[in-house]
Amino acid sequence: MLATRNISESMVSSERSEILRCDQNDNPNMSTNLISSGTTARQKVNLRTPDVMAAVQQQVESHYRSDIIEKIRRAGGIISVGDTTVRLAKQFGFCYGVERAIDLAYAARKVFKDRRLFIVGEIIHNPEVNHQIASLGIKNLTGKNKEADITDLGPDDVVIVPAFGTELSIQQQIKDRGCQIVDTTCGDVMSVWKRVRKYASESVTSIIHGKAEHEETKATSSRALGDGSGHYVVVLTLADTDYVCDYIRHGGDKQAFLEKFKGAHSPGFDPDVHLQTVGVANQTTMLRGETEEVQRRIRQAVIDRDGQELAQQNFRFFDTICGATQERQDALRELLNVPMHLLLVVGGYNSSNTSHLAEMGEEKLPTYFVLNASRLVSATEIKHYNLHEKREVVSHFWLPNGPAAIGITAGASCPNNLIEETLIRLFELRGISRRDLELAA
Ligand code: SF4
Repeated sequence: MLATRNISESMVSSERSEILRCDQNDNPNMSTNLISSGTTARQKVNLRTPDVMAAVQQQVESHYRSDIIEKIRRAGGIISVGDTTVRLAKQFGFCYGVERAIDLAYAARKVFKDRRLFIVGEIIHNPEVNHQIASLGIKNLTGKNKEADITDLGPDDVVIVPAFGTELSIQQQIKDRGCQIVDTTCGDVMSVWKRVRKYASESVTSIIHGKAEHEETKATSSRALGDGSGHYVVVLTLADTDYVCDYIRHGGDKQAFLEKFKGAHSPGFDPDVHLQTVGVANQTTMLRGETEEVQRRIRQAVIDRDGQELAQQNFRFFDTICGATQERQDALRELLNVPMHLLLVVGGYNSSNTSHLAEMGEEKLPTYFVLNASRLVSATEIKHYNLHEKREVVSHFWLPNGPAAIGITAGASCPNNLIEETLIRLFELRGISRRDLELAA
């Protein structure tokens, strides 16, 4: 996995309160560089020396690599044994942003051997990966698995910011404690921040298509405040979008609006004022078709209110779906053109991009969104996440008896070893051993 990556120099200061983050002037996805948060000259410490990265590569591959999956991929993504055929989507699993975040977390552990290491929430939305990170002694500072509080931190501590980024207020609290910050925020997320900051600087309210409680959207919302005078509202569904569109066209009950978007709008938001000039941005992992529809509906509402010419000033948009999300959605769309009996989507249930893959599958064929191989209980029973009920459910008689064609995909936060275990379990339930599968791969 690591061998094919651009392993660029990443530096972190030996001084306090330094931030290691992407250099967006170069390649925002892969390159990292030091950005000083202070004014004094800093002595830099290289996180990615060849010896550290060689050790990281070995450790990461031992945790997440799969020979079987790599072989099937090289063979065109299809494997048939007996009367069972499995097709893998052309793109699935770890994205460049996740790979980079995991590398940096492992590298930080090696470089800061004797320091306490913390992370702001989950590094990615996959329980197995988060468990591995916890096993490195990296403690969580936020969320339901919180193990320490920011107020407990001191200048000798190192804090990792995950691939989604974090809210400005949290980042400031950590800086105020004097900690070193290893910022693994994905460059694609920072591109969204750049966009909403620009909206704020031009008094344009950000309408963010995303999940208000998702870490990335919270981080983006905090940037949409700009210097403090900016505003935002987060819409998740097309129904939310239509509600905002109605308000843009006709105005309405301000209190009802604020109640509906409680927790999803900026402090002091006034829909009578702040929907005058709007710009759409989105969480990087949304469904492209849906995001485009959000843009289209809001643009039309502004045109209906202001007319075509004025709408050019009062409506902006910028597509911020990331490349990796797009590739995985495109690859699944292609896979779904092939007749299959069912689709397995592997990944964390709180993973946004994985949920969207499951949504796409559901539109075409029986789709089971599974956390890992253990959810394939038997040939007649499967535990899987129901997106509509937002809980894990049990389904029966999910595997066909005769010849079977099955698709598999996985979200950007799912490592190959979990996909391999799911594949092996699937073949086992079809009466085909791991050994036979390995021989066929
Ligand atoms: S899903 Fe996209 S935005 Fe998120 S870490 Fe991966 S590449 Fe970056």
